[in-house]
Order: sequence, then structure tokens, then C-alpha cells
Amino acid sequence: MKQADLINSSKNWKEDYEHENGNYMCHCRLCKQSFLGHKRRVMCKECTERQVIGTLIEGEHPDEIYPRAATWLEERRNWMREVAILKQEIENLKNQS
Ligand SMILES: [Zn+2]
Repeated sequence: MKQADLINSSKNWKEDYEHENGNYMCHCRLCKQSFLGHKRRVMCKECTERQVIGTLIEGEHPDEIYPRAATWLEERRNWMREVAILKQEIENLKNQS
């Protein structure tokens, strides 16, 4: 794997980077690919998400759920952005009065 591919991989645990030992190159037990994250991690982020989602929705294969979950996560992110905008607008109104 090229260095740039590894750095930009969605398999990485970016939230680990700020922690001590959080920027190691690890190998995923499931997909056997490299990812960056805490040195104790055994699974990449993608495989972990698949597993978590797979156990949440019973009777469906994780590979079928994952694309829908990605859409759901994107919708949630958009929603959170809108909440942030609304909060800001409320703050602005407070400051005006
Ligand atoms: Zn993996």
C-alpha cells in the first residue's frame, strides 16, 4: 500500500491520533489490510463499524447493511450541522436583545 493511501484510508482510527501510541501502523485481523490507529487495535475502523452495525440489525448481513448505514451516518452529520447553525442563530438573537 502506498503511503498516501494509508494516510487517507477510511480504515484509520483518526480519533486515536491525539493519544499516546495512537498513530501506529496496525494490521486488521479481518480484512488483513494496514491502518493507522492505537497500537492495541486489532481491527480497522471499517470492519469494526460493519461488525457493530451487523449486530444491531439482526438477520441481515453486514455487507448489505453497511451502505445504508453510511447514508444514515451522512444524514445524521447533515442534521448535526443544521443544529449547530440553529444554535449559532439563537446566540446571535440573544446578543441582539
Ligand atoms: Zn479491516
